[in-house]
Amino acid sequence: MTAEQTPPAPLAFTTVSTSNGDVTVPCEPINDWLAITPVFSMDAGGKTWLNGGFTVTHRPTGLIVADGPGCIECCRAAGKELASLDVDWATLNAGNGREWAAALSDGTKRRLGNARAVDWSCDADYCYPRPVGVAESVAVEA
Ligand SMILES: [Zn+2]
Repeated sequence: MTAEQTPPAPLAFTTVSTSNGDVTVPCEPINDWLAITPVFSMDAGGKTWLNGGFTVTHRPTGLIVADGPGCIECCRAAGKELASLDVDWATLNAGNGREWAAALSDGTKRRLGNARAVDWSCDADYCYPRPVGVAESVAVEA
């Protein structure tokens, strides 16, 4: 399967919540509720750095929705799937994630679980462009 090419949205900024506080990062919006954000780390002093790869963030709360990190195309595909789910992203808040997810239908939970696992779905059959190193493990048909 090849990921459908998605025209990127104009970059914006969003805030990601971390255990050491909020960090504002550039993002590629998916819709009003979700955005693709770069994966980063933070030390105890609050110094941050990029780790490579991306994830999907719930814009109003800064909560990470996808596991990540994945490549940009996997995050775009996951974001499209997440945005298509029959869920009310407006009711998700920083304190109710567990209850919010528990109230979803079994089918929606399954689709949400599959879509958020972008690190596991990141492979040559799914990604475009392919991540560095993946092509070597794939048989190419002439
Ligand atoms: Zn990927």
